Amino acid sequence: MTTPDSQPVPSTATSDPLRILITGSAGFVGSHLVERFLNEGHTVIGVDNYISGQVSNTELFLEHPRFTFIEADVSHGIPYEGEKLDWVMHFASPASPHYQQFPVETLMVGAQGTQNGLELAHAHGAGFFLASTSEVYGDPHVHPQPETYWGNVNPIGVRSCYDEAKRYAEAITMAYHRSRGVNTRIIRIFNTYGPRMRPDDGRVITNFVHQALRGEPLTVYGDGSQTRSFQYIDDLVEGISRLMMAQYHEPVNLGNPDEFTMLELVNEITLIAGRQVSKKFERLPLDDPKMRNPDIILSSNLIQFKPSTPLGLA
Ligand code: UDP
Repeated sequence: MTTPDSQPVPSTATSDPLRILITGSAGFVGSHLVERFLNEGHTVIGVDNYISGQVSNTELFLEHPRFTFIEADVSHGIPYEGEKLDWVMHFASPASPHYQQFPVETLMVGAQGTQNGLELAHAHGAGFFLASTSEVYGDPHVHPQPETYWGNVNPIGVRSCYDEAKRYAEAITMAYHRSRGVNTRIIRIFNTYGPRMRPDDGRVITNFVHQALRGEPLTVYGDGSQTRSFQYIDDLVEGISRLMMAQYHEPVNLGNPDEFTMLELVNEITLIAGRQVSKKFERLPLDDPKMRNPDIILSSNLIQFKPSTPLGLA
């Protein structure tokens, strides 16, 4: 990530060694956090129940002397009895569109899992870092979406198990901050891609890449005019690392504001594939947001957040 000037921005790269517990450590984002913090000299305790995470993501670090792993469902409690923690980072949750197979588990990990993480952070005098989502904006009427927008969420729709779980998670995080003094952070993560995503996770980037590699038509849902803005995982991890060092407790958007329709995304994939790729139109899923784009003025002012990896070849 580039910065406007040469002043180093505070991040975990320059902090004293920390002891960090990460829920969802076997997931896509969680495993990249584990990797980054271990490389920086911190101690990491990973927790996952593998509902959507991958055992191979734990195996990557099992030999590392500063990594330990606890297999547990954090909705039922976080069985950590080790030394004092500096951070509890709650990244455990099935993600889009996987959560629709596990609606109750998704609600539980956003609700009970978040509270269990907050209690653990409180007991240790640790910081608590919540991974929230652009889904809290629902099908937005404000574009791009600033953190001050309250969103347009269907509270009973097929996406509600995720959207409302994360909205509750944000609410209880603010409640623990306001009434119990927990040092909290909340990020709203916009669509993110990179290595270690599950090939079968059903998201558009993984679907299109795998379809292109197999020579199959790309499945465009609806008419392909809906938009998303795709951020590379390393940019997200850098933003997280910086926000940990900033004393700011309200939600912060982390995403790449370069916006694409799904038809434009097909074109990008075609360019990368270097050959013609056909497409097949399929039914638009229920409540699929028509557009999504992060307003990152807050994060760029607060932590000099500036995504540096473009989606396409440009
Ligand atoms: N999408 C698509 N084809 C696919 C998978 C997804 O056109 O094979 C569309 C989907 O309808 C949505 C967008 O791509 O409009 C992003 O979907 P994804 O599940 O990746 O993330 P989210 O909807 O949560 O942003």
